[in-house]
Amino acid sequence: MSEVMPPQAGSVAAWTERYGHALMDTFGPPQRVLVRGAGPYVWDADGVRYLDLLGGIAVNALGHAHPTLTAAIAAQLGTLGHVSNFFASPTQVALAETLLRLAAAPAGSRVFLANSGTEANEGAIKLTRRHSAGRRPRLIAMEHAFHGRTMGALSLTYKAAYREPFEPLPPGVEFVPYGDTDALAAAMGPDVAAVFIEPIQGEAGVRIPPPGFLAAARELTTRHGALLVLDEVQSGMGRTGAWFAYQHDEIGGGITPDVVTVAKGLGGGFPVGALIAYGEHAAGLLGPGQHGTTFGGNPVASAAALATIGVIERDDLLTHVSELGAWWRAALTALRHPLVGTVRGMGLLIAVELTAPVAARVAQLALAAGFVVNPCTPTTIRLAPPYVLSRDEAQTFVDFVAGLPAEVMA
Ligand SMILES: *Cc1c(COP(=O)(O)O)cnc(C)c1O
Repeated sequence: MSEVMPPQAGSVAAWTERYGHALMDTFGPPQRVLVRGAGPYVWDADGVRYLDLLGGIAVNALGHAHPTLTAAIAAQLGTLGHVSNFFASPTQVALAETLLRLAAAPAGSRVFLANSGTEANEGAIKLTRRHSAGRRPRLIAMEHAFHGRTMGALSLTYKAAYREPFEPLPPGVEFVPYGDTDALAAAMGPDVAAVFIEPIQGEAGVRIPPPGFLAAARELTTRHGALLVLDEVQSGMGRTGAWFAYQHDEIGGGITPDVVTVAKGLGGGFPVGALIAYGEHAAGLLGPGQHGTTFGGNPVASAAALATIGVIERDDLLTHVSELGAWWRAALTALRHPLVGTVRGMGLLIAVELTAPVAARVAQLALAAGFVVNPCTPTTIRLAPPYVLSRDEAQTFVDFVAGLPAEVMA
């Protein structure tokens, strides 16, 4: 064993030094070097324990090293690990069927399995290109949207710092203000292939659209013959207490989208993404030879996703996510801490909006106190913990916030 396992010995400082020489500097210096996890906790190479309130950015739905997920992955890898897409596997079929069931997708709906959120969105972009036999050159996306970093997904991503160094990007994308129905209506036309929307904007700081916005987008896309694509890569797979955020009446108003993309929480930490096309009119847009992937739909990733979904259903974690999230937001709000403005979110996708642009400093203090959180904007702390987080564990972070010195604002 020891010959093939990566070396585990070494301090955080030593590994960080070696990281700097071996890894491309795309993420900045790592905050810690982590070696182990269990449930909602992770440990660094110096043996320090942290409560993981970020969950690998909304990924580790079942926490770390969940026994059911671990066993499902090991069993599948020990049975059949990979086949090309010239062949099918039962886990792949079962995962696609399960996603269609969770989506309550109508007859004719079908799934494309990919390896990440970005890849799911690339598939969605290609699918929408084929709408009206390619005679609709425009796509509409939302200001502050995040859809991924590959050239297609990047063309739908709003942040100039992400886009501009890589221009030219695929053309035809226009941005409208998130939640602005009038702006969306003004942008629509017979040349629009699709509108891409995150039902809750995650990277932008857990921004929830005004009630009725998704329903209006559905109405406008239908009227103009365009497709409505919902990017649920972050908000989907139970994160908000429903399988998909659009399924909450206050978000989606009962709509049926044309396409939904998921990834992050889908495999509970194993890389897997999916594109769900609702109805034959959408599912039939990509035909044989028009899209592909070597790893997408592989038996291990499919088994990981099935196990993750299975545990969420077996343990009724959607109810827990809703209840714990509501309790946590209320508890953080009730502190009336001078540093805490509003606390918003749904389920366990939560933003603590600070009253000063000190989110990075607060995240540093949190890490030093044993909490992994994410300063996703200068004023926003994002929480996206495992669904298995307990109330007592969540309370420890409330206590940490309560004890934050007001001088942090200075
Ligand atoms: C994270 C994210 C993506 C990109 O997913 P990757 O798995 O990192 O490729 C796309 N859309 C949204 C909404 C995301 O949060």
